[in-house]
Amino acid sequence: MAKVLGLRCRECGQQYDKAPIHVCELCFGPLEVQYDFTAGPKITRELIEDGPLTMWRYKDLLPLDGEPTVGKHVGYTPLVKADNLAKALGLTGEVYVKNDSVSHPTLSFKDRVVAVALSKAREFGFDIVGCASTGNLANSVAAHAAEGGFESYIFIPHDLEQGKIVGTLIYGANVLSVQGNYDEVNRLCSEVAGKYGWGLANVNLRPFYGDGSKTFGYEIAEQLGWRTPQHVVCPSAGGSLVTKIYKAFQEFHKLGLIDEVQTKMYVAQATGCNPISTMVKEQTEIMKPVRPNTIAKSIAIGNPADGYYAAETCRKSGGWAEDVTDEEVVEGISLLAKTEGIFTETAGGVTVAVTRKLIEQGRIPKDESVVICITGNGMKTIDAVVGKIGQTIPISPSLASLEIALSERGLAAKPGRPLVTA
Ligand SMILES: *Cc1c(COP(=O)(O)O)cnc(C)c1O
Ligand SMILES: [Zn+2]
Repeated sequence: MAKVLGLRCRECGQQYDKAPIHVCELCFGPLEVQYDFTAGPKITRELIEDGPLTMWRYKDLLPLDGEPTVGKHVGYTPLVKADNLAKALGLTGEVYVKNDSVSHPTLSFKDRVVAVALSKAREFGFDIVGCASTGNLANSVAAHAAEGGFESYIFIPHDLEQGKIVGTLIYGANVLSVQGNYDEVNRLCSEVAGKYGWGLANVNLRPFYGDGSKTFGYEIAEQLGWRTPQHVVCPSAGGSLVTKIYKAFQEFHKLGLIDEVQTKMYVAQATGCNPISTMVKEQTEIMKPVRPNTIAKSIAIGNPADGYYAAETCRKSGGWAEDVTDEEVVEGISLLAKTEGIFTETAGGVTVAVTRKLIEQGRIPKDESVVICITGNGMKTIDAVVGKIGQTIPISPSLASLEIALSERGLAAKPGRPLVTA
């Protein structure tokens, strides 16, 4: 394994020992894991390619001291060449969907961060874990806590989708449904982490949790044949994923695995919760927290912990940010489903719709390569699309009834392929 030297403040550079802490005592800046990538085996394309077909093929770039103890099968999701979607978007360049809607085991990219956070929680000796969540993190912490035999306490806003609530309770987690929005839930969890000896994935374990997201970026680069695309569009909530994808690309370049990174990074948000896209569009470094009001609940964080860094990633890389209405979110979900057969949740609808907007604005040129980050599964947020996606055709169990129903709707007026009779 690598080489975890300790933690370091992103703002003032103060160093700390490896510990379940996430804020600098001197300046309140966020802490980051510091590595020595030369301490372990030499990291080469071959070393990685010989690894397991999971996120752990990059274990020498992740912050564990030993082998993972939960989430051993997470990651290495498909990078899908999306030619139908490209055509629908009017693009002639290569378009790919990085599809974490099929992530094992809980169908969102949060499995990556939780596999690292709870394996780290075990190394630190925690027996109780938890998180503050907008839904997907709740599912993943609850599942991995069950797998690892941890007791778990999951804090969520009271108004989450049924799919996200059921998908947490099923694992036997203690679920605290808080009368408040995510930002209030998160504030409560900071107090909980200070008062009880619990390992909270995105609070006191946050520096380790965050680095699990790097694997999303490593996979994009490796699956493209050891190169990065010209554009990456990524949904942002706390703002961590987009910064870590970019960091992953930079690390690969520093290790000599890929050429210099020219990729432009774009943040996608819902207009009903757009603190990061507002910063980018208004070209300011001051983030104004908002009160979320959108169907894209998984990314409804009004005061994102890494919002500043997410905006900086867009700026530094030459990218941009945009936000879309709830109506456009549903159109985005539907477009991806109809063109590529991939059913994503509301955050994915945001990302597809923002990609379309960026193309219309001319920010993403039509002949360049794009990776669209699909981070969660549509079966968890059916509430968002029910009643907006067409209806079933009711019939009796007879051919006559079928034929009437089809002809009434002008369907299947001509035969399909010829019947082959014996
Ligand atoms: C959490 C989440 C995000 C955003 O992640 P951040 O790292 O907090 O910006 C994006 N998509 C989905 C589906 C999520 O659950
Ligand atoms: Zn500091």
